[in-house]
Amino acid sequence: MAAGAQAANAADSTTPAGTRPEHDRSSLSRESLKRAFLDHLLYTQGKSLDIASKNDLYQSLAHTVRDRLVPSWFDTTATYQKRNARTVAYLSAEFLMGPYLGNNLLSLGISHEIRLAMSELGLDLDELLRQEEEPGLGNGGLGRLAACFIESLATLEVPAIGYGIRYEYGIFYQTIMDGWQVENTDAWLRYGNPWEIQHAEWAVQVKLGGHTEQYTDDSGRFRVRWVPEKTVAGVPFDSPIPGYRVGTTNTLRLWRAEATEAFDFHVFNRGDYLGAVSKKVTSENLSKVLYPNDESLQGKELRLEQQYFFVSCSLQDMLRLQRQRGQPVTSFHKSFAMQLNDTHPAIGVAELMRLLVDEHLVPWERAWDITRQTFAYTNHTLLPEALERWPLELFRRVLPRHLEIIYEINARFLNEARIHFFGDETRIARLSLIDETGERYVRMAHLACVGSHAINGVANLHSELLKRDLLKDFYAMWPEKFDSMTNGVTPRRWVALSNPRLTKLIGRCIGEDWIKDWSLISNLEPYAEDAAFGSEWRAIKRANKVDLAAVILRKTGIRVDPDSMFDVQVKRIHEYKRQHLSALHIAALYHRLKSQRNLDIAPRTFIFGGKAAPGYARAKLMIKLITSIGDVINSDPDVRDRLKVVFLPNYSVTLGQWVYPAAELSEQISLAGKEASGTGNMKFAMNGALTIGTMDGANIEIREEVGEDQFFLFGLTAEEVYAMRREGYRPLDYLSRDPELGAVLDLIRSGFFSRGDSELFAPLLDDLLHHDPYMLLADYSSYAACQARVDEAYRDTQAWTRMSILNTARTGKFSSDRAIREYCERIWKAHPVPVEKLYAR
Ligand SMILES: *Cc1c(COP(=O)(O)O)cnc(C)c1O
Repeated sequence: MAAGAQAANAADSTTPAGTRPEHDRSSLSRESLKRAFLDHLLYTQGKSLDIASKNDLYQSLAHTVRDRLVPSWFDTTATYQKRNARTVAYLSAEFLMGPYLGNNLLSLGISHEIRLAMSELGLDLDELLRQEEEPGLGNGGLGRLAACFIESLATLEVPAIGYGIRYEYGIFYQTIMDGWQVENTDAWLRYGNPWEIQHAEWAVQVKLGGHTEQYTDDSGRFRVRWVPEKTVAGVPFDSPIPGYRVGTTNTLRLWRAEATEAFDFHVFNRGDYLGAVSKKVTSENLSKVLYPNDESLQGKELRLEQQYFFVSCSLQDMLRLQRQRGQPVTSFHKSFAMQLNDTHPAIGVAELMRLLVDEHLVPWERAWDITRQTFAYTNHTLLPEALERWPLELFRRVLPRHLEIIYEINARFLNEARIHFFGDETRIARLSLIDETGERYVRMAHLACVGSHAINGVANLHSELLKRDLLKDFYAMWPEKFDSMTNGVTPRRWVALSNPRLTKLIGRCIGEDWIKDWSLISNLEPYAEDAAFGSEWRAIKRANKVDLAAVILRKTGIRVDPDSMFDVQVKRIHEYKRQHLSALHIAALYHRLKSQRNLDIAPRTFIFGGKAAPGYARAKLMIKLITSIGDVINSDPDVRDRLKVVFLPNYSVTLGQWVYPAAELSEQISLAGKEASGTGNMKFAMNGALTIGTMDGANIEIREEVGEDQFFLFGLTAEEVYAMRREGYRPLDYLSRDPELGAVLDLIRSGFFSRGDSELFAPLLDDLLHHDPYMLLADYSSYAACQARVDEAYRDTQAWTRMSILNTARTGKFSSDRAIREYCERIWKAHPVPVEKLYAR
């Protein structure tokens, strides 16, 4: 194994005189691992084995592993500086990393040795792994994408740094009480985070509020001075991101807001010590909590401050690195390729202009050139309610200088646009960075488009719809800027780590190179016809289902049958994702089973998981609908052996690692044209689940790859959705055509699932009947018919197994490594830079 070879070679590596450590603190031998673990237990945690808590043991192990990442981490930074390597800066307000320990062990290739080392000390590695509190610094797909990308960048040895916010409280912890979602704070830092190193020496200052002043400087130059209302400090916390079995360990740098001394001093001098302290608390609110909204906007001042805070910190940090590398600011774009993960960091366009023009005295045109060559923008949504815009007055209050800069960018941009679209003032108004149709707003997507040299959607359909709809005016102006980059997920975490049984089986058949190069998984395809392989494949799926069943029992008290079909929908709860479409179908199935006692169906367990935004009442009611239907079904002896419905609380990366490997049917049932890509769909397919889905997002590409016979397709296409909207959609029409649908809606309305409360679900039902913006009624019959085909197919065990194997074997495209290679080639112009061994080991 590469990591082992690395250790073995360490003796040969030339060591600069005077830097050879007294003893090797990062050896990978079992003896050394045990020694280091016990040392950390004593010297870091202050405990001995007999009195250590589980957390002490976890922390000691985490430190032991971190120590083994530090040399390559150090070498990586040194190599990039020495080579002045073009570096990808991935800016994202969210990084949903998942637990680190397991992944870092996998990357280093020491899981087995660590397991033995722990067992020799009488400890169980799996129990220690369970101790880690996952950093939930993201809402869902967007944050998880950032995590997959940052891992792939490291594995591909591409110089990269992830920039984000070190939220003190991540996404809330969800519990279910009486069937309703309850939010609890996520105090993930409670017991400390062993994976981060704070670098107070690289703290930066960030200004907020106040006003601007114009003046002429000593050399007669016109300048603008920003006089802020307050200044906060940003302190970087770095975590190592090792690539899989390579010398590269990149950095995830998250910023924490702290009060500045200078600011406190001012208040302190007036004798108001407690006032100073309370202002300190206010400053620190900036990185206090992640906004729990997914696919919808939270137009709060603090949110804008958060965004500006981390972007300003990151840009100042990059300028420091540029200085440190001895490079002029005017070649900033040669050193850094900056990717905006949605519009959350789009204020970076104005901030880089401010830093270059106001602080580094670069002339506007030159600065604009540098800015545009640096930034690229990924759009993540077509939902209008998710498009970020800030009321102009709020924006001016928080970022007065940036508003001036945006006005200047806009004036120059609209002049350019008027040449393209001469006389078309309605189009000019549509393009403007300022929305003046009513209350005035700053349009962040427009700022991102104008300030970037590349704009991409996250799946082919999504990119096409962007060009046709949301960004059509920009596309008309700059078609060459537009591209499509289908998302991907890392096969390290989502197969090798979370599905060890499958990993072992695949390894026996086609070797282990697929872990680094997922396209090799196609070599599995011939095994789809191999009966012996098929029964092993089934045995693994069953074992994974037994594991998940144990998790379900522990978390919900519900006992599910591992021999039933595991039909899963896990993702954020949202109307456009249509968890309620599945709920209607489950209620219908139940109704059918009750009215036809001997109806023969393949036993199924419906598994749901996902968080609803705390202020999203409709999504919370959808959870209540699912749990209510579940309560009735799960306690009805008539259907006991045939139907179960569970809602797994607190869906997270940790839970996902149990869920995806155990799933047999993956529900990807959004209304066509609404889901930009989806990445959950990819994780399921890679682990051998078949998809029931619409022609939406990456589902289309998954179906194209795995073959239409291996995919359960239903529902309207995006084209049909558009056509239907044009012609006027009438949900009631669909009710008369499908009696079962009417019966189900009546049953829910009657209070059957809500202890006689006929009001509870009325808002949901009325909306379906009268508006149904996500066209559930239009798609219902097609969905129910498709589910009947699934039932039929599942009974043919051999055929199902074959389809399952083909799903895995044909998902080669959906690795985030492929996505990252495309970004590197087509957008970032970044290349692998193998890390040199500089530090003595
Ligand atoms: C992959 C993932 C998502 C995204 O799921 P979609 O089905 O693409 O919406 C959300 N949350 C977690 C924890 C994930 O791992």
